[in-house]
Amino acid sequence: MSEHIGTTCVQGGYRPGNGEPRQVPIYQSTTWKYDTSEHMGKLFDLEESGYFYTRLQNPTNDYVAAKIAEMEGGTAAMLTSSGQAANFFAVFNIVGCGEHVVASSAIYGGTYNLFAHTMAHMGIEFTFVGPNCSDEELEAAFRPNTRAVFGETIANPALDVLDIERFAKAAHDHGVPLIVDNTFPTPVNCRPFEWGANIVTHSTTKYMDGHGTAVGGAIVDAGRFDWMAHSDKYPGLTTPDESYHGVTYAERFGKEGAFITKATAQLMRDFGCIQSPQNAFYLNNGLESLHVRMPQHCKNGQAAAEFLSQHPKVRFVRYPNLPGDANYELAQKYLPNGGCGVVSFGFEGGRAAAETFMKNLKLAQIATHVADARTCVLHPANATHRQMNDEELKAAGIEPDMVRLSCGIEDTEDLLADLAQALDAC
Ligand SMILES: *Cc1c(COP(=O)(O)O)cnc(C)c1O
Repeated sequence: MSEHIGTTCVQGGYRPGNGEPRQVPIYQSTTWKYDTSEHMGKLFDLEESGYFYTRLQNPTNDYVAAKIAEMEGGTAAMLTSSGQAANFFAVFNIVGCGEHVVASSAIYGGTYNLFAHTMAHMGIEFTFVGPNCSDEELEAAFRPNTRAVFGETIANPALDVLDIERFAKAAHDHGVPLIVDNTFPTPVNCRPFEWGANIVTHSTTKYMDGHGTAVGGAIVDAGRFDWMAHSDKYPGLTTPDESYHGVTYAERFGKEGAFITKATAQLMRDFGCIQSPQNAFYLNNGLESLHVRMPQHCKNGQAAAEFLSQHPKVRFVRYPNLPGDANYELAQKYLPNGGCGVVSFGFEGGRAAAETFMKNLKLAQIATHVADARTCVLHPANATHRQMNDEELKAAGIEPDMVRLSCGIEDTEDLLADLAQALDAC
């Protein structure tokens, strides 16, 4: 049966049998009990599948990860404690010291710090390219030791749309996978695997949870990258893992399972960035209404973008689905049903007007959050991107007076009225 995404949102992952609970059970247990230590040994050797310790795997998490895999059209998935952990694992699973990644410069500030600073200290080099760079610039960014390409479907908060097909082709021409952070559109509005991406990551903290309840992340594998065909580049997947009883992930688990199994058996074992089963339960509740919420987020985003673009006190508006936006063509291609509820804009009155505007909002709340049911606003240059200098801000597509408005799912009229009264005060 080929399901539509809404049905998968509601019923994917966990399919209860006769007499079993309808809601995903929360396995609030660190450990599992076995009758013999031989049985336990087989689990440790990955010879049999089963649960023994929640740092490695937990059924609640696996049900929810399976739902996200189905939503994205992937073959395997795992949950992580946060979106940061998801992006770290997705890259570190295949890129090590002395190796290199090509990344779009239009990415979330936290991911930029992770790559440009923390992972740089681990000996991994990143070359950042503009999402709209020329083919020649993109080509020139690759090196013999490049192991992955990374981008965001819709950049937070610059709102550039990644030309997934173009970046996937460049990655594949160089024999490396494309990793896409699909947090903002969610699989309801874009499925990067359909355009050639190999690995998708999420901060489930955002629309997927959707209620500002639990920080979390997810990694999904399309199961199509042939690690064995590029075994010189990915010895971690294609040669025995001495830290895991000599298992060769790509041989034992194939294209479909190798990436997630390695990230679970090795990275989760060692770094322990697990999502708590309780949080996975909250996440699943959010996923059940994702396909109903996203259209309202997009309706409000579109209405706010249109209203702001006509307002005399507004200097610029960025919203990929707004006609005339620099990303409009890409949005038509990748986000035909809408992208997300996030609108970025700036003020004729500059940074001071941005601050006055924010102070005067009544319905929209100031929060270091984005993409949940309640409308919220943030001044990135003052908050999430505070560590960046002006040059880095510019490369990430952020202006000093730019406000990021995350439209919730309230009534459109009330939201527009709030924006109007706060602009009057500027
Ligand atoms: C928020 C966010 C992250 C980081 O996720 P956390 O859950 O906060 O760790 C990564 N990527 C994008 C696009 C985000 O919006």
